[in-house]
Amino acid sequence: MTDAAAPLMLFNSLTRQLEPFNPVHAGEARVYTCGPTVYNYPHIGNMRAYVFADVLGRTLSFKGYRLTHVINITDVGHLTDDADSGEDKMEKMAAEKAQSIWDIAEHYKQAYWADVKALNIREPAHWTIATDYVPQMIEFAKGIAEKHCYELESGLYFDVSTVADYGRLARAQTEEGQSRIDPVPGKRNQMDFAIWRKTPPGEKRQMEWDSPWGRGAPGWHLECSVMSGEVLGFPFDIHTGGIDHREIHHPCEIAQNQAHCCTNGLDDAANSGAKLWMHNNFLVERSGKMSKSSGEFLRLQLLIDKGYHSLAYRMMCLQAHYRSELEFSWEGLGAALTRLKRILLGVIRADNLVRQAEVEHGSTEYQSLREIKRDYVACRDRKMTVPSFREKWGSTSDDLLATYLRDFEEAITSDLSMPEALALIDEVFGDKKVGPLNRLRFAAISDLVFGLDILGLNRADLRIRPKSATITEAEIEEALARRKEARAAKDFATSDAIRDELAAQGVEVMDGDPLGWEWKLGD
Ligand code: AMP
Ligand code: ZN
Repeated sequence: MTDAAAPLMLFNSLTRQLEPFNPVHAGEARVYTCGPTVYNYPHIGNMRAYVFADVLGRTLSFKGYRLTHVINITDVGHLTDDADSGEDKMEKMAAEKAQSIWDIAEHYKQAYWADVKALNIREPAHWTIATDYVPQMIEFAKGIAEKHCYELESGLYFDVSTVADYGRLARAQTEEGQSRIDPVPGKRNQMDFAIWRKTPPGEKRQMEWDSPWGRGAPGWHLECSVMSGEVLGFPFDIHTGGIDHREIHHPCEIAQNQAHCCTNGLDDAANSGAKLWMHNNFLVERSGKMSKSSGEFLRLQLLIDKGYHSLAYRMMCLQAHYRSELEFSWEGLGAALTRLKRILLGVIRADNLVRQAEVEHGSTEYQSLREIKRDYVACRDRKMTVPSFREKWGSTSDDLLATYLRDFEEAITSDLSMPEALALIDEVFGDKKVGPLNRLRFAAISDLVFGLDILGLNRADLRIRPKSATITEAEIEEALARRKEARAAKDFATSDAIRDELAAQGVEVMDGDPLGWEWKLGD
């Protein structure tokens, strides 16, 4: 399990190439992820971006790097369009709801954190809140203003022609992107952007600060440059975000970073402020782009309310490579849930076999399994490091397990190929030559990266149970027990009647279910 065996290769959006991960600081990995603008609930597409960043962080930990991950919370400055047009998203929502921006920010930040938790996304080392960094933003802007910016009536603008290779990350700006740029009178270049927006004379914003360019608020791009540089130092290792950020937000961040660090062109990626820029592709709906305003608002909570375990959605994300578009459908979510159930069944069966071996011939494997589980929980709760776990349970003299572990490492280090890595866990559980304890070892080790809680879940967790259902589990179990008795007595009329009664209450009895989940609740 050395780096030489499987160097971590990651796709750099800046060079459009796979590159080996070579940390700026030996043994460390410093990662910044563009976080949510907390003016509304995140949709599940947004959450795909954080599942991706989490899998990246887990992979870096798995490879033994000391990870410092930062995710910001944008509570000011993000306009309704990524470019410089529209209103501040936070101000707009606060006006619509007749609430203070601070209350809006707090409410949606908590909602976002609940989704983070439900998806088993590890807490980053820092959640940076944009409004906590305004003085630093003003200092940063002061530092680059003279050489790179100019003032207009509406604010302080960054002149993109003052840095080399502006927009390289985007390659070609699309027409859609171009048309979104606000035609502010007096702008020197179409792509110039505001780094400080002045409050128009006679107006007052809920969030505004004094600055050398008048009272106003920072631009969204400025926020991320400042928070990433402040906490991680330039250059840091990896900057992540959704693919939409490749076009405007990140090119603007890069331009500011170049200005701030006095670096030149982008042939050397580190001049951009980060050595690697990584972007997840979109989760889309059949009808097109995912949106918070049209159609069904696909929040994680909606999936949970319809009865799906939140980790079924995480599984759905892992089943696609992060650079591929992923289409959301309820059938797809159902299939991901089935996959998770299948793995859990494998875990339960292997667990039973290990216990049985102890009872039947005093095997000590169960003792080891208890220890694995204890360490697995310690690792999840960050009381044990991932490398310590791997050292203890990942080195093995069993050739077959060693081969599977090596293949797993190769998959995750090939630009985070989770679909391949997941195929391996299916293989391990289907391979009769792998003993039950080794299957569980593989499950525990791979789950350090998957984060699917596969040793922590139980069958009841994965049962489909919509919020609208009123019948209790105990009532269902009791009815099923009566039905079993009736069937045993060949009283099929009673058995069918019980089945119908249950169906009327939304319970589908699944007699032939190969996974043996026995029943599920429908809508
Ligand atoms: P926002 O709160 O709009 O700034 O978005 C938060 C994160 O979600 C950003 O990294 C976006 O690039 C990303 N994102 C937005 N929509 C999607 C989507 N449909 N699929 C995947 N990522 C998305
Ligand atoms: Zn950002």
